[in-house]
Amino acid sequence: MAITTDTYCVLIDGEERATASGGAAELIDPSSGAAIGRAPLAGIAEIDEAVAAARRAFRGAWGELPGEERGRWLQRLAAAVRANAEPLAEAVMRYTGHPAGFARADAANAARYFEYYAGIADKLHGESIPLSSDHIDYTVREPWGVCAVVTPFNGPLQMLARSSAPALAAGNTVVVKPTEQAPAAVLALAHVLNETGLPPGALNVVPGGAEAGQRLVSHEHVAHVTFTGSVTTGTAIMQTAAQQITPVTLELGGKSPQLVFADADLDAAAHAIVASALVTAGQVCSAGTRILVDRAVRDDLVERIADASARVTVGPPLEGADMGPVISLRQRDRIRDAIRGARADGARLVAGGEAAVEGVAEGGFFVRPTVFDAVDPGSRIAREEIFGPVVGVIEFDGEQQALALANDSDFGLAAGVWTRDAGRAHFVASRLEAGQVFVNTYGAGAGSGVELPFGGYKKSGIGREKGITALHEYTQVKNVCVLARSPAA
Ligand code: NAD
Repeated sequence: MAITTDTYCVLIDGEERATASGGAAELIDPSSGAAIGRAPLAGIAEIDEAVAAARRAFRGAWGELPGEERGRWLQRLAAAVRANAEPLAEAVMRYTGHPAGFARADAANAARYFEYYAGIADKLHGESIPLSSDHIDYTVREPWGVCAVVTPFNGPLQMLARSSAPALAAGNTVVVKPTEQAPAAVLALAHVLNETGLPPGALNVVPGGAEAGQRLVSHEHVAHVTFTGSVTTGTAIMQTAAQQITPVTLELGGKSPQLVFADADLDAAAHAIVASALVTAGQVCSAGTRILVDRAVRDDLVERIADASARVTVGPPLEGADMGPVISLRQRDRIRDAIRGARADGARLVAGGEAAVEGVAEGGFFVRPTVFDAVDPGSRIAREEIFGPVVGVIEFDGEQQALALANDSDFGLAAGVWTRDAGRAHFVASRLEAGQVFVNTYGAGAGSGVELPFGGYKKSGIGREKGITALHEYTQVKNVCVLARSPAA
């Protein structure tokens, strides 16, 4: 499939079209800062049309389908994504700035979500509950209706699929509102998915700004909201959804710790830290950016991380650089400010820094992979999500201090534990306040971890995506109690 600017239309009711009310987004190449196209944005009118289309589809073409048929549709969606994986990944590199490995994984993961939930669509059933010999009681798991899915700029393909696939599998219909910041890759995905002939209205894709998002999550015909993004926006969305008592699933930010004990494989830990938090330009919610290390091996680990980060090439993803730009000029400047602030707070810079990256276009939104040592646990760089390629090292003395530092955070998305002591690994995992704990690895290996429940403790969110657990977010339980025989009979 050739991705051209003609591909960029909003998708409403099976129709790819321009918009009347939302205006257009200037598409920016984050590697140069240049404007390279435009894409339509949805306004209030398009959000209302998309919700109406989803409502019709829920009451008709999609809602009436048996699970087996829904599963077949999801398989077709997966096949379409796989067939177009390379152009989709290229769109992610061009418009979002993710490096090739991350962009290709984004496309592959999107396909995998549809495949995974295709297999579950005909296996969603309730249970029968013993009550008395006169009664028959059973539960049914029913879809909510129209599900709103609001997505962030990073991992744009998988963010659409992660929530839409389980929602569709369970019989809901979906309105996705991707970010206005970089809508092109996700509009290309919408085009690919629509080409399958999916029943109109089952999946609608309407990128837009905060106003469009607010309209969607406050809509009286939206029955469930899934939001993936920052804590600030998540708080606003929860408040808005509360007006209609609309249930929310919130997948928010993080400041995930990596706990490196003295007996750890330091090369493996350093490699994972650089891959998760720096090569991705730090634009991953679960990036392990707080490096907690045993005092005995601190210098060894810091040296390995600094060496590995110095080998990371920074530049345009389409030219094969290991690490690409961040999403916007504003974000680049914010990250550089945070680096300056960390220095002012007394942290010791061991790699990177706020200076411009050499050898790349001046207007590009690049930041050096940056490593700080001797970070104060109370400082901004240790507590706030920077969402840029910056890690900070804090030393600990013993397991208890490691755990106290790890849990001293508003966030609780993921955590890494590096040790060769199996007993310690399980003990520490049991005490960590985090939705996902990885031991001697970070991330789910070559696969995408679609199978593993994912979500946050504390301000990192509410509810769980991924795995079979996610189906609890996209269904509600009805109990049916039948008096089969009158007691008097
Ligand atoms: P953001 O919160 O700025 O925006 C996310 C989405 O919310 C966008 O589509 C935006 O248009 C929309 N939005 C903004 N204001 C709104 C409002 N008032 N009502 C409704 N919608 C509104 O986030 P971002 O900068 O795009 O993404 C980065 C953030 O996302 C980071 O904090 C990151 O950790 C988080 N994130 C979390 C996960 C996860 O699974 N936990 C995954 C990816 C990203």
